[in-house]
Amino acid sequence: MSETKNLIYAGKAKDVYETEKDDEVIVAFRDDITAGDGEKKDNLKGKGHCNSLISSKLFEVLESNNIKTQYIKLIENGSMLSKKLDMIPLEVIARNIATGSLLKRFPFEENQKLDPPIIQMDFKNDEYHDPMLNDEITISLGIATQEELDEIKNITLKINKILSEFLKEKGILLVDFKLEFGKDEKGNIVLGDEISPDTCRYWDIDTLETLDKDSFRKGQDNVMDIYEQVCNMIVNKEDLAKWGVSF
Ligand code: 5GP
Repeated sequence: MSETKNLIYAGKAKDVYETEKDDEVIVAFRDDITAGDGEKKDNLKGKGHCNSLISSKLFEVLESNNIKTQYIKLIENGSMLSKKLDMIPLEVIARNIATGSLLKRFPFEENQKLDPPIIQMDFKNDEYHDPMLNDEITISLGIATQEELDEIKNITLKINKILSEFLKEKGILLVDFKLEFGKDEKGNIVLGDEISPDTCRYWDIDTLETLDKDSFRKGQDNVMDIYEQVCNMIVNKEDLAKWGVSF
């Protein structure tokens, strides 16, 4: 980052810094990568940059489809100017295909199509290892009201439709993904965080090959090649050139 700013929050792969404006923050994507509740860790040069470009593009696609997001603009490699949100401690997961942790917990068939998609909410809380919630627990904990949960589910279904169609055109099958929402100063529910290969399962539409963080979870040695490939598939050439990227 060009100027030193106060750090507000440090996550597992991103930092959030304050700006001169009370209602804006800078989200800085780091090269750190973690899996398995933070037990598996590495640092992959260029990953933060890739994820910032992919997230920016996907936030722009959502904004152009009338979804409110915290994204304002990319300001430099790996750093996104964003609206400040009061984050809701939920991991909102949408699933189009049964895989991952769903198979460990329930008797779905591997790669079974989920139509309608499944929306699952986990409590974003390291101490409790992000347990799965239901509406009643979420409301009792004071995390969100029923109206807010209904709105979050509706927005997530819309996002799933928009991104599935957009990514399909790029040769990517959107298998599942995790979103995080927050509230702006008026109390509006707004999409925050990131949408990247760290937070989604992307499969090659023809070969069903993994194009996301599952490559790291499985211990593959080509994780960065995969992230760069996805960046090339999703972000147009002009934007890659503008940010000095040539993979
Ligand atoms: P699963 O529950 O199968 O492990 O994950 C479902 C989807 O949500 C995957 O796309 C996964 O990347 C995403 N996801 C679930 N929990 C987390 C999390 O704590 N951090 C990140 N980055 N993604 C998550």
